[in-house]
Amino acid sequence: MKYELSKPTRQQVRNAVLSGFIADSAAVPVLVTLVFVHREPFAWDYLVAGVASLAVSLVYLATLAVRRGGELDVRSQANVAFVVICCALLALSFAELASGTRYGLYRPIVLVVVVMVGAIGDQRMRLAIGVLATGSVVWTSWAEGLRGGPLVVTDVVYATTIAIVGVLVARTVRSFSGMATTRDGMAALSEALGAARTLEEGFSVGLPLVPGVLPCSQVVVALRDAESEQTEPVATWPPPAGPSRRRNDAGGTRLARSDAVERAFAADAIVVDPEVYAIPIGYTERGPLVLALERTATSEATGLLPEEAAEFVGAAFLRVSSRAAFVANLRLESMTDPLTGLANRRSLVERLSGDIARASRSGLPVSVAMVDLDRFKRYNDRHGHLAGDTVLRAVAALMVSKLRRQDLVARYGGEEFCLVFPDTDLRNAVPLVDAIRVSTGELADGVVTLSAGITQWDGSESVTSVVDRADQALYQAKRRGRDQVVVIDAHLGA
Ligand code: GH3
Ligand code: MG
Ligand code: MG
Repeated sequence: MKYELSKPTRQQVRNAVLSGFIADSAAVPVLVTLVFVHREPFAWDYLVAGVASLAVSLVYLATLAVRRGGELDVRSQANVAFVVICCALLALSFAELASGTRYGLYRPIVLVVVVMVGAIGDQRMRLAIGVLATGSVVWTSWAEGLRGGPLVVTDVVYATTIAIVGVLVARTVRSFSGMATTRDGMAALSEALGAARTLEEGFSVGLPLVPGVLPCSQVVVALRDAESEQTEPVATWPPPAGPSRRRNDAGGTRLARSDAVERAFAADAIVVDPEVYAIPIGYTERGPLVLALERTATSEATGLLPEEAAEFVGAAFLRVSSRAAFVANLRLESMTDPLTGLANRRSLVERLSGDIARASRSGLPVSVAMVDLDRFKRYNDRHGHLAGDTVLRAVAALMVSKLRRQDLVARYGGEEFCLVFPDTDLRNAVPLVDAIRVSTGELADGVVTLSAGITQWDGSESVTSVVDRADQALYQAKRRGRDQVVVIDAHLGA
């Protein structure tokens, strides 16, 4: 929980009121004790002043408790506690004066006060409470009758003690709040990455949050390209922008290719160097990823070891990359036919729609062919379904090997395939399909043959319409005796 001094939460106000009551109730028994153990004549006016200052703080607290929520005119838990502490201190000093005792019972309370303000106050409060506490030690020591030499010694000892305790507490609190900040940073990173659907999204929301967990000045995601074996930055923070763009890019590349990153790739393990953290965060289809962080010179204590923080950051990004890989794989599976590995009908429709949309802009032709194995039921009956499967796979592989890079072959149904030839007219597409027909015939000594119908997109029709015409051509090829390719020209007919 952070202290937002200008906007305290209800919880913080409640804590402030509570700690105020605790401070006051610590003062009360001391006061009472003083009243009952005094030996000299009691100075009631001092006691009344002491009770009055306690009353002031109680009224202040009661006012806060009544005016709850957002309407509260308190700046923070620290401020409330500060006021209460000052009142309590004052009350104790008056009590000391009233009783004329020399027990110095208020002194531990002074330290408690210093500890409290050290824990929750800001710089100015710490200074003020230091002065006030020291002043009250001086005043009450004088009042006790310790004058001359002993007074100076007493004051120096107490002032030093107060200063040391104050510094110690302030340090502890800083490290606690550092830990709280780190924990906040970790929570923010987890939350942001939990919502990221793709790796790119994960990097764009996640990289800016990394310095909140591991202090660093630059964050780069390095990809080791499996093919080229080159390491390159694929995402950077701060994002390259404006005039410093080139310098930043160069910095990203330098960090991505640093020695620590190389070692992290080699060992698939976190590397913590004096200048660089390198954290493996999983794989993409192009290769493994390592998160590289440029450490800052002023790496504040975060309450976590760098290795632990790096472990956390790595795990958070690893979840995103494995989720992204899982989703990509699901998508790939939903687009492919499991038996042949070809595109399935769904992905055919998607691709063909894209090809047609592009062709209508470019004015280039698209040819579409439907292919069906001849008398395949008979083949299955004779050789068994498994042998039939093998033939389907062999024909699929053959078609893939015969087609060009830009062409598409999809399994349309059982033993039917659909071929798409972008930027290709019938004159060029027909020989490709016929070559497939010839090679299929040679595949199993003429036992397996295929028929095909082919047509060209007419320049405006829908996907269904052009596939339908290719199917009509296929039907004609079957009727004319199979093992042949029939062409229907959109404009001329068969
Ligand atoms: P045609 O020349 O008229 O196309 O005759 P055909 O027997 O090939 O035609 P039909 O459509 O009647 O039969 C298709 C057969 O393809 C039926 C089925 O046994 C076979 N088939 C469909 N899918 C698969 C598959 O995944 N594996 C195997 N082994 N056979 C399949
Ligand atoms: Mg058939
Ligand atoms: Mg069929």
